[in-house]
Amino acid sequence: MKLLEGKVAIITGASRGIGKGIAELFIAQGATVAFSYVSSDDKARALENELGKDGGVIKGFKSDASDFNQAQELVDAVANEFGRIDILVNNAGITRDNLLMRMTEEAWDEVMHVNLKSCFNLTKAVMRTMLKQRSGSIINMSSVVGVQGNAGQSNYSASKAGILGFTKSVAQELGSRNIRCNAVAPGFIETEMTDALDEQTVQGWRDAIPLKRGGTPEDVAQLTLFLASDMSSYITGQVINVDGGMLM
Ligand code: NAP
Repeated sequence: MKLLEGKVAIITGASRGIGKGIAELFIAQGATVAFSYVSSDDKARALENELGKDGGVIKGFKSDASDFNQAQELVDAVANEFGRIDILVNNAGITRDNLLMRMTEEAWDEVMHVNLKSCFNLTKAVMRTMLKQRSGSIINMSSVVGVQGNAGQSNYSASKAGILGFTKSVAQELGSRNIRCNAVAPGFIETEMTDALDEQTVQGWRDAIPLKRGGTPEDVAQLTLFLASDMSSYITGQVINVDGGMLM
């Protein structure tokens, strides 16, 4: 029996990286997957073809998660096409790193909108459907940087810490309707987001991790699968690190 058989999932930002890893695992576990992206049309079509070829049901939507109206339109389109929404993974995220001294207002606002406001936008949009169904699992992608901060990432860290407060509040508001909300806090996961760092910095991160390696999108996807599935039916309001032991 597949863990997500019969469930419909929305994953924001799944054209590449962690979101793509989650889409792959969700399809393998029987879910119907709707995912969003903003610019990678070719990668989105390639993912649809790759995961759809063995009968998987997957559809990509070009939709900016930071835009309130686009989020609602995305959710309406998914509900119309697939009839229900069981899982929302708020994964879309960006970095605009700089020391606070040099950080522009634009860099602050953009990161807060894409990383934090997107969670509000999508969660608001799926709420009605999940309330009607009296079930749902919402998973927000935070970061260890949201838990402990990081020099040069005050905007990113604030957005990821904001996600933790949002997650716990949503868990309290919607728990009585059997809607769960949890946060995943990945450590150093090797994706295009971390490709921007120089090799020396990357090696330094790897050396400092107890498991002595960077994480993979699959590492994060396994935890996300657990939180999306009924295996975690009594777990809500939690922040779970997937970081090779980086934070203890
Ligand atoms: P990534 O490789 O840069 O991929 C980001 C994804 O988000 C892409 O699919 C991108 O679409 C999409 N996206 C960006 N802005 C969007 C928007 N406004 N609306 C919809 N989709 C948008 O990033 P990643 O490393 O996989 O990270 C995924 C999540 O994990 C992020 O929230 C990140 O903060 C978090 N995280 C990552 C790490 C890490 O070490 N990598 C650690 C902790 C937390 P396009 O391809 O169209 O641009």
